[in-house]
Amino acid sequence: MKILYDEPMAGHTTMRVGGPADRLITVSAEEELLEILKQAEAEGVPHVVIGNGSNLLVSDEGYRGWIITTAGGLTDIRTEGEHDGEVLIRAESGATLAAVAKFARDCALTGLEFAAGIPGTVGGGVVMNAGAYGGECKDVIQSVRVIRATGERGTLTNEELHFGYRTSALKRSGEIVSAAVFSLRRGDQEVIEARMEELAVRRREKQPLSYPSAGSTWKRPEGLFAARLIEEAGCKGLAVRDAQISEKHAGFLINKGKATAADICALMCEVERRVFENSGIRLEREVLLLGF
Ligand SMILES: Cc1cc2nc3c(=O)[nH]c(=O)nc-3n(C[C@H](O)[C@H](O)[C@H](O)COP(=O)(O)OP(=O)(O)OC[C@H]3O[C@@H](n4cnc5c(N)ncnc54)[C@H](O)[C@@H]3O)c2cc1C
Repeated sequence: MKILYDEPMAGHTTMRVGGPADRLITVSAEEELLEILKQAEAEGVPHVVIGNGSNLLVSDEGYRGWIITTAGGLTDIRTEGEHDGEVLIRAESGATLAAVAKFARDCALTGLEFAAGIPGTVGGGVVMNAGAYGGECKDVIQSVRVIRATGERGTLTNEELHFGYRTSALKRSGEIVSAAVFSLRRGDQEVIEARMEELAVRRREKQPLSYPSAGSTWKRPEGLFAARLIEEAGCKGLAVRDAQISEKHAGFLINKGKATAADICALMCEVERRVFENSGIRLEREVLLLGF
């Protein structure tokens, strides 16, 4: 277990903003995760488990408590057998979705191509039901191993996770993911590789990947596109100091260098106000706020 004190979260989020966490704790075994959660509960210390910080905006003041991360620590990925034509892969929660997708490709298993370009971990992916290009975690997760607030360990099936658009039962229950089992099918390795490459090209063409961001800042309102509503409200390129609505993709709020969380919040509020004024639609945030 690695513990950093007063650690600036800007270095641990893809938005590259965020003040210090009292402690940033990286766990590298399920036992460590369990132990640190028990300790935080027993001492009454506020705590949160994160992955790659790719869907997070941490406040400039940081977080008074312990941020526990599985990224870079709990990263084991292995096959778990086969039945009824389904091949199971078990990945620990801190493994990146990209690493699991590549592992699947190397085993000639299809189903995870959509996830190769999502910069989150298995834990964050399951909690958020991350998805892209017609696929989402819901389609490939067989079960998830969790740790409850009581310190008990358990397993939740796909049905018990009640996946929805960018949400799951875990977002509400606060249970912690220690590992997930993916159910995939045998496929043609070249076809899998080609699909992954095709999606990577689409991302590079459409998304402002050279700037820090948290991906899509807002959820897609039913039957609509957030980016289009933002463009129609005249917000493409709109900026608050170094926080800007990307000129390339209006659904992305980017950090052009020295943006603060306050700049980003001010810009999000202004975009939401203008979109509502223009279309009557209230944008719902996909990005999650921590330490506000
Ligand atoms: C360039 C870019 C592109 C993106 N593209 C997509 C995309 O195509 N599709 C998509 O869905 N998302 C996309 N995202 C957003 C993001 O990558 C996903 O939401 C991802 O699933 C978040 O994973 P994470 O590990 O970074 O989670 P974090 O941001 O670290 O955390 C997200 C939430 O999950 C919780 N959490 C994390 N790990 C655990 C755990 N082990 N147990 C319990 N709770 C946990 C956290 O507390 C938090 O509430 C993109 C982001 C960027 C920067």
